[in-house]
Amino acid sequence: MPAPGVADPDWFQAGWPHVWLPYAQMKTAALPLPVTGTQGSRIRLADGRELIDGIASWWTACHGYNHPHIAEAVRAQLEAMPHVMFGGLAHEQAYRLAARLAALLPGDLERVFFTESGSVSVEVAMKMAIQFWMNRGEEGRRKILSFRGGYHGDTFATMAVCDPEEGMHAMFAGVLAEQVIADLPRDEAGVSALRDTIAAHRHDLAAILVEPRVQGAGGMVFHQDAVLHRLRGLADEFGLLLIFDEIFTGFGRTGDLFACTGAGVVPDIVTLSKALTGGTLPLAATIARRHVFEAFLSDDPQRALMHGPTYMGNALACAAANASLDLFEREPRLEQAAGLAEQLEWGLSPCRELPRVVDVRVRGAIGVVELDASINLQVLQDRLIARGCWIRPFRNIVYLTPALTIAPDELDHLMRAIVEALQDQALR
Ligand SMILES: *Cc1c(COP(=O)(O)O)cnc(C)c1O
Repeated sequence: MPAPGVADPDWFQAGWPHVWLPYAQMKTAALPLPVTGTQGSRIRLADGRELIDGIASWWTACHGYNHPHIAEAVRAQLEAMPHVMFGGLAHEQAYRLAARLAALLPGDLERVFFTESGSVSVEVAMKMAIQFWMNRGEEGRRKILSFRGGYHGDTFATMAVCDPEEGMHAMFAGVLAEQVIADLPRDEAGVSALRDTIAAHRHDLAAILVEPRVQGAGGMVFHQDAVLHRLRGLADEFGLLLIFDEIFTGFGRTGDLFACTGAGVVPDIVTLSKALTGGTLPLAATIARRHVFEAFLSDDPQRALMHGPTYMGNALACAAANASLDLFEREPRLEQAAGLAEQLEWGLSPCRELPRVVDVRVRGAIGVVELDASINLQVLQDRLIARGCWIRPFRNIVYLTPALTIAPDELDHLMRAIVEALQDQALR
């Protein structure tokens, strides 16, 4: 295992033997970089260097780091009340946030269930969909149809609806619930194939689950809004619920506040997390339409949605989310996303000329350079860190999902560094 050096901060040296990193082979993983502060799109390292963050800390910090309005809201909430349990007690931040999310989402998506992480919000959506049918006396509808290339989380229920090859299906075969995984209906042939798949499982399926517009962690693959209209059509044809996982796409990332509003498709359930608090605190939400909620109304207590995280509706996190929504109201975030789309388009286009690049694509504030084979990610990342850039490529995908507020010269610097690094032979 690598070890910190004597120049590293004491807390890092003392804590390193006790920390288990995400998605890391701990025997060979590079040491993480000790960070002492953030500001805007900048990450300040313990050794005094500064990195420009090209991925907004896993797509969360949509307003940049340390936005004073969010900081002030969290500080005020901390003084008043950091947290109370959501069972039996109510507080203003969560109730205001629920009403605001309901107002922003299309149609009658109006009932908000709060959790603390994206994966759990997807699990709640799956539970809602399955129990929706149980409550209607259709016990057999227990499966979820999801798509190749999808990513919905790392918990056991969500792993089962991720891409079967990139996800952890093979490793956990026999442990994961068996779900129905299909290809996105990208054309008419795709629609008829999907219709056949659904028809074959018509009595087992509860819902269709999709990341609208962009399959994020599965490979940053885009699809047209027509795909979402087709899914709505098929869900209606077979009476299935349609779930949009907007954990990545929500809050301006694809150029609209939500992919569902941009596409003009109203799903039955939506999940939100990542940028919900502007990258400040963990929070997620599962939002259901009225008819979904009403299927749980009964004199029978068994029909209630049986879920309730301890930190449900955490007041600090909800205060941060309300402040983040204020910023979407007051500041031109969607215009900024459109500006980023243009800048990403021309800034990444030199990559098209590079030999190993198979695709360069942009959707909203997402810029992707897809390479033909697995590159040496560690070498690439080291090159970029040396140029003062923080990105986290995976497999053959190099991407940028910066804060919507990133300065043009900062984004420019990131893109130039990527173009230069990809020209380097040492990456092969
Ligand atoms: C990140 C992500 C999740 C999982 O969220 P966590 O907070 O990491 O559990 C689920 N779905 C999508 C689309 C995501 O991008």
